Amino acid sequence: MPKPRPAVVKMAPYSPPASGREGKLRLDFNENTIGCSPAVMDALRRLPAETLAAYPEYGPLREALARRLLVPPERVLPTAGADEAIHLLTTAFVGRGDPVVYPVPTFVMYRFWAELAGARIREVPCGDDMSFPEAGVLRAMRGAKLALIASPNNPTGAVVSIPGVRRLLRANPRCLVVLDEAYHEFHGETALPLLDRFANLVVLRTFSKAYGLAGLRIGCAVAHPVVAAMLAKVQSPYSVNAVAAAVAPVALADRGHVRRCAAEVRRARSFLRRELAGLGIRSYPSRANFVLAEFGPHAAAVAEGLRAEGILVRDRSGAPWLDGCIRLGVGTRMQTADLLGAVAEQLRRLRGSGRR
Ligand SMILES: *Cc1c(COP(=O)(O)O)cnc(C)c1O
Repeated sequence: MPKPRPAVVKMAPYSPPASGREGKLRLDFNENTIGCSPAVMDALRRLPAETLAAYPEYGPLREALARRLLVPPERVLPTAGADEAIHLLTTAFVGRGDPVVYPVPTFVMYRFWAELAGARIREVPCGDDMSFPEAGVLRAMRGAKLALIASPNNPTGAVVSIPGVRRLLRANPRCLVVLDEAYHEFHGETALPLLDRFANLVVLRTFSKAYGLAGLRIGCAVAHPVVAAMLAKVQSPYSVNAVAAAVAPVALADRGHVRRCAAEVRRARSFLRRELAGLGIRSYPSRANFVLAEFGPHAAAVAEGLRAEGILVRDRSGAPWLDGCIRLGVGTRMQTADLLGAVAEQLRRLRGSGRR
């Protein structure tokens, strides 16, 4: 049998989202539990057959993104989710043995694409409080090609301050600093204005989270025009599909929907952390639509018990750096109340049996 590349042979297979999620309260993949704007659903129903018959055009999409993000269109590259942007970055900038830096724990796709590129991976552990390990990342960036930083970070919810981003950008101008702002809408701060001064900054955005369009696979990279052009070079020419290209501008136009969803999540997030504390469960401060919570030895059983009740959460208790932790998605306050009720019930059951 022909041999694949060594980097591929060495990789662990990625386990995709569990199937059978439909009809459940899905708090396991940080999706929008309310759904997308009704205007997007209308636009989808009205799409002419011609849109599907023709290869997609990206001009209007790029313009709409540029207008919303307040950057020139030549800085914007629409991608099939932020995930594709990370793939394009490693393809265009990372050769075999080139150092790639990211804090851990973080989004698992950073490791996936870095490994596939054959990178030398430099993982920098977060502090015990799960905050961004700035000093360690700055050290690891010496001689590195790419630093991948999610702010807010998945699964911790921690952020990097804008002065912190500036320090990263200045540390090594030959290292691309990728600021993954997938959860921007729940946080509010952005590094986009720094693009004018730093050619080594790339900002990623996605429609998968606050916009409620994870299934559509659309996002973008925003960068120096030369960097954006390099990424475009290694992208498949029709990677973003025509449906996504047609309705993403409609999603952008309904600012109210995203604003209302994000406001609801922020209220539910404080409610969730407060009530968890009342149940004796420690959680970490989060600026995203999820909360990382420590259930200790009960974690796997709690997640299993919740699943049986139709509530899906992300059990990370077996993952490195996340001993005993579950990532709980934050939906509406009503959904959060349901989650809390079910968590309390599981804890009663497990703690009770523990004493016997
Ligand atoms: C969910 C997530 C993404 C989104 O990926 P898409 O490909 O746009 O769906 C990107 N980065 C982080 C850190 C995430 O958690």
